[in-house]
Amino acid sequence: MNKTFKSMIRISFCVILMLAILYVILNRQLQKYSSGDFTAKHKVKNVIMMVPDGCSNSLQTLARWKKGEALTLDSMLVGAVKTYMTNSIITGSAAAVTAFATGKKTTVGFLSVGPRAEDVLTIFGHSGEETQYKPMATVLEAAKLKGKAVGLVATSTICHATPAGFACHVDNRNKYNEITEQMVYENLDVAFGGGKQYFLPESEGGARTDGENLLGVLRDKGYKIVEKREEILGISSGKVWGVFAMNHMRADLDRRQFSSGQPSLAEMTAKAIELLSRDKDGFFLMVEGSQIDWAGHANDPIHMVTDFLAFDEAVKVAVEFARKNKETLVLAFPDHNCGGMTIGHGHTKVPYSATKVEDLIDPLKRMKITSGALKYQIGNDYSYANMSKEISEWWGMNITKGDYNAIKKLMDNGTSLNYAIGEVISGNYTVIGWTSHNHTGEDVPLWAYGPNRPVGLYDNTDLAKITASALGFNLDEVNKELFVEVGEIFSNYDLDKSDAANPVLKIDSLELPINKNILMAGGEVHELNGLVVYAPMTEKVYIPMDAVRIIEGYGVRH
Ligand SMILES: [Zn+2]
Repeated sequence: MNKTFKSMIRISFCVILMLAILYVILNRQLQKYSSGDFTAKHKVKNVIMMVPDGCSNSLQTLARWKKGEALTLDSMLVGAVKTYMTNSIITGSAAAVTAFATGKKTTVGFLSVGPRAEDVLTIFGHSGEETQYKPMATVLEAAKLKGKAVGLVATSTICHATPAGFACHVDNRNKYNEITEQMVYENLDVAFGGGKQYFLPESEGGARTDGENLLGVLRDKGYKIVEKREEILGISSGKVWGVFAMNHMRADLDRRQFSSGQPSLAEMTAKAIELLSRDKDGFFLMVEGSQIDWAGHANDPIHMVTDFLAFDEAVKVAVEFARKNKETLVLAFPDHNCGGMTIGHGHTKVPYSATKVEDLIDPLKRMKITSGALKYQIGNDYSYANMSKEISEWWGMNITKGDYNAIKKLMDNGTSLNYAIGEVISGNYTVIGWTSHNHTGEDVPLWAYGPNRPVGLYDNTDLAKITASALGFNLDEVNKELFVEVGEIFSNYDLDKSDAANPVLKIDSLELPINKNILMAGGEVHELNGLVVYAPMTEKVYIPMDAVRIIEGYGVRH
C-alpha cells in the first residue's frame, strides 16, 4: 500500500468518526428538547389524562411560591387549551369534559351527548339539529373496545361532571342516579372517588330512587369494594371500586386534619396505575383534582393552592411511571378557569412593585383549614363574637367590625358564608385578587410528558383526538359501533316506562334495560360491549351494534 492510500484511509476514518459523534450529540439534543426524553420510536400504549378542575396559570405561580420550589408541572408546560362550549364562550365542567372525552363540544350541563340546537353560538355556522342529545363515544369507551384497561379517579363524587363525562351519556349533569348506574355498567377496571349515597337505595340510607343497590351489582360483577385508605393500599389485583365518602371526599388540607382514613389523590393515582398497568394491552386513566374549582368559586386561596399542590403530587406519580414505562403519554390541563385569580390586586396594602414573597405566603401559612371547613366550624351563630373567634382560630386573622359587616352584607345579598369570608379576607389580608365567583373564559395551560407530546395552542376537543390517535382508534368508527338509534333499524319497538325509575326497551320478546349493558332473552342474559341510552328530549333510544347483531340472531325482523 502506498502512503497516499494509507493517509486517505486515515482521513476517511476520521471523517466517519466525527460524523458518528455528531450524530450522537444531535440525537441527544433532539431527545432533550423536542419531545421530553422521547424519540419517535416510542409508541404510546397508555394515556393518563389529568385535570385540575377550574384553574389557570396564576394558580401554578401561586403554588410554586407556596411550595418554595419548582412543581412537577413546571417542567411539562407545552402550550394552551381553548375552552369554550357550544352555547357560551365560558364553559361549564360538563361541556368541557365532553369536549376532551369525545372530541366534540356540547351545551352547558350536558355529559357526552350532542348539543341542543336552540342556542348554539353563531361561530359554529349550523345548529346541529340531527345530532342533538345523541350519545357521543368517549376515549374511555374506545380504549375499552380496544381491550385496554380503563380507570377514573376523582376527589368529588365519582358521578360528578368530569369523571362522569367519560363513562355516561346524559343531558343533565345532576342526574346522579342515572349517571352512577351507567358508570357501573361501563365495566371500568378501577374507579376511586366519593359518592357512596348514589350506589345505595333510599331504604339502605342512600339516594337511589330506583330501589337498586349498585354496590351489590359491583360485587356480583367481581369487584372489590374499598372504603378506606388502608384497604386500597393493600389491594394488588383485580377490578376495584373505591367509595371513600357518602358525598365528596375531603379537601386535601382538611383530609390531613380530620379524615386521615381517606387516601390522597397521589395515593389513588399510584394504585390506579399499578392495577391498570397489569393489562398487557395498555390502559386509559383520567385523574381529577376535583375541588380546585370549588375553591375558585369560593375565592378561597388556601383550599385552591393546597388542592393544586396535591394534584401536582399526583402528576409526579404519573410522570415517574411514564418515565420508566416509556409508552405512556401524560396530558394535564384544567377544563376551564374559575374565580379569575390574580397575584396582586387593586388595593393591596403594599405597592405591587414592592411585594415580597412573605406578603403572598404568610397569610396562607396561617390558614389551617379550607373556607368550607371554616363555615362548618362557625355553624349557625353568625354573631361578630363567634365569627371573629373562629376566623382567628382557624385562619389566624383578627377581623375588624368593618370586615364583619362586609361579610354580612355579602351574605344578605345571597352569597354563602364561606364565599363571603373568602372574598373579604382575600381582599383585606392577602395580595391575591379575584374577579368572579364563577368560571372565566381564558385559555388554560397545557402540560404534557411522554412520546409525541403535543406542543402549541389546542382546542379542548383536540385532546380527545390526540388521545385517540395515540392509542390507535377512530372515534367516528367507535360512535358507529356503540350508538345506533333503534328506530333506524327496527320498526317494532317500545319503551316500557311502567316502572318509571327503571325504563326498559322492548323489541319483540327481548328486553334491554335503559342505562345498562344488558340484553335479556327469556332466561338468557347477554352482556353488551356498550350501554343502552335513552334521550328523553328526542325520545330516541340508542343501542350498541353488539345488541343489533344479537337481536338479529334471535330472528327479529327490521
Ligand atoms: Zn365550577
